[in-house]
Amino acid sequence: LNRRLAEFGTTVFAEMSALAAATGSINLGQGFPDTDGPEEIREAAVRALRDGRGNQYPPGPGVPELRTAVAAHQQRRYGLSYDPDTEVLVTAGATEAIAAALLGLLEPGDEVVALEPYYDSYAACIAMAGGRRVPVTLRPHDGAFRLDLDELRAAVTDRTRLLLINTPHNPTGTVLTREELTAVAELAVERDLLVITDEVYEHLVYDDAVHIPLATLPGMRERTVTIGSAGKTFSFTGWKVGWITAAPGLVTAVRSAKQFLTYVASGPFQYAVAEALALPESFFTGFRAEMLARRDVLTAGLAQAGFTVFRPAGTYFVTTDIRPLGESDGFAFCRALPERAGVVAIPNAVFYDHRDEGAPFVRFAFCKQIPVLQEAAERLGKLA
Ligand code: PMP
Ligand code: GLN
Repeated sequence: LNRRLAEFGTTVFAEMSALAAATGSINLGQGFPDTDGPEEIREAAVRALRDGRGNQYPPGPGVPELRTAVAAHQQRRYGLSYDPDTEVLVTAGATEAIAAALLGLLEPGDEVVALEPYYDSYAACIAMAGGRRVPVTLRPHDGAFRLDLDELRAAVTDRTRLLLINTPHNPTGTVLTREELTAVAELAVERDLLVITDEVYEHLVYDDAVHIPLATLPGMRERTVTIGSAGKTFSFTGWKVGWITAAPGLVTAVRSAKQFLTYVASGPFQYAVAEALALPESFFTGFRAEMLARRDVLTAGLAQAGFTVFRPAGTYFVTTDIRPLGESDGFAFCRALPERAGVVAIPNAVFYDHRDEGAPFVRFAFCKQIPVLQEAAERLGKLA
């Protein structure tokens, strides 16, 4: 294993899902729904397979039906116009989009300012691209993890090439506000930075939270690569269909890397996801309402069990603080939890460079059926 990757080991999601399987625990670790996406979209995939659409290499940028559907979705929801031919690229999940964007845009030694805690593949892909990550830590403030705008500005140096933003944010559930995003945008314009914004949870925002795509802010469309995922939006994480929208020059850069990673992926599923993106608004509101109900069940159970709960405004994850349980090391807590309670969770420390900052936080996924969440809450309630 080379020096760039040596520090990363095995992804925590693989480790924790294996632990869940081995111990028969309820898996609230890795974020995947325990209910598959809409039947009609599964049927669409079967139809594509049967009709021989996508069984051979699809076009490099993605099938035209899907690129058109992605552009229509950005237009309809956010008023963002993208040309399906030059400004949309289909990827093997958001994971490949992140990798290809970093590999295609970074020069060795470039600095990337990213919000810590960060989704694990960011750090690994920045390393693979020869970049240097510069974390800006989100810290608890009035019950939510917030971005310190002065710290963000201070993190930018002459070597900074890009900002890597994630909203709604995994693992904290924070949804960046218009004020925060405006500060990000002003900084990017002032320092002439590129921005990669991971918006895979764009449809999962709760209560008063609103998802604002960074590309809608002044000066941002031409410097922003926006990432979306069918895995997260339609509950088909195994299909590995993601996409980016960006200005033509940025798409070309990302595609230059992408063509040598997977070349193409998920042929028949691309056709099905094109249909999914055109589902009526009721699908999206229904999905959100379902996840909101699940959030409320799990957050209530966790609070009852004695955790400090940071009520997420978005995503399908909830971050907790385990210190009220007399614990302080999330790693040790999560390793012992299957044995102690038959539940698997993720130690947020894996998402930090500053491991100490993340030590007392533990993430639970709530994209599970309500009886499963109730059972998990009951088990966790017996911890104390
Ligand atoms: N970004 C974030 C913030 C995620 O939580 C995930 C995990 N689903 C991904 C990207 C990867 O998405 P995909 O499964 O589409 O590769
Ligand atoms: N995005 C998922 C999570 O945060 C995991 C995806 C993966 O296993 N790579 O749980």
